[in-house]
Amino acid sequence: LEGQGIATIRDMGENLVSHCPFCHHERHTTFSLSLSKGLWICFRCGKKGNAAMLLSELFNISYEEAEHRLRLGTAWRETEKKKPVPSLRLPYEFESLKLPETIGNRRFWKYARRRRLTPALVEEYDVGFCREGFLDGRLVIPFRWEGQLISYFARDITGRQAVKVITCPGGRHAKYLFNLDRVQRDDILIVVEGVFDCLTLADRAVSTSGKRISEDQILQLAASDFRTVCLCWDEDALREAHETAQRLAELMINIQLVLLPSGDPNQLGRKTVLEAVAQARSPTALQGVELWGERRARR
Ligand SMILES: [Zn+2]
Repeated sequence: LEGQGIATIRDMGENLVSHCPFCHHERHTTFSLSLSKGLWICFRCGKKGNAAMLLSELFNISYEEAEHRLRLGTAWRETEKKKPVPSLRLPYEFESLKLPETIGNRRFWKYARRRRLTPALVEEYDVGFCREGFLDGRLVIPFRWEGQLISYFARDITGRQAVKVITCPGGRHAKYLFNLDRVQRDDILIVVEGVFDCLTLADRAVSTSGKRISEDQILQLAASDFRTVCLCWDEDALREAHETAQRLAELMINIQLVLLPSGDPNQLGRKTVLEAVAQARSPTALQGVELWGERRARR
């Protein structure tokens, strides 16, 4: 609500008192909102109503959609509260990747650069590595949700290990969208598969940590502010992309689809992917699935 001109002027516990977003009377805090009941009234212009009416007016959406979004948000928060939170920790051998480069960390920096991780990203996301133990030879990207560790991704940098990515035992990476708590509030949220793809577009994207988007992740999306989501997936994920698009459309989230024909976002780089996103279409507009790459090639 704060972004819509309702800032808490006085927090009276149960009630929030603020300037009215409708009559914009700057000098007086005539607007009162009951947080438990969701009812509000302005004592100046006389406007009043329930939570869904407020959302529908402020965000210019239908009453039904506002109600729907409130229910989803509540459902998601309720299930979140019920979940026991196992305490996870980074691997014992974890070391933060820091500058300057040393004999010990050089090969990890080299790999990080190859995957387009800048020193700023490495610092911001607390990227590290292991050079001994079970995760020896892996770059480790912690997955934190609002500060709490919920998983990590340990990526082989040698190219010799059978399993490319090892995740945290008991990690809940399938339940959360990586980076959704940090991503910039923009018109379009980009959803990618992998964590490196996500970091390539760090301020714009979230990652599903896999080929599919889970129901938990879908509910998270529905409870977020984003109205338009751009699925930016590999072209072999076409069927999943269509299924997901349908599911999100049911939840009244607009969908755009970018199918990348020649590599993942991490390989293609930020500029190319953002260009593709700018040209993205809704899946129904993609008659017979005209791929972005084909369209470009034909020009
Ligand atoms: Zn008013």
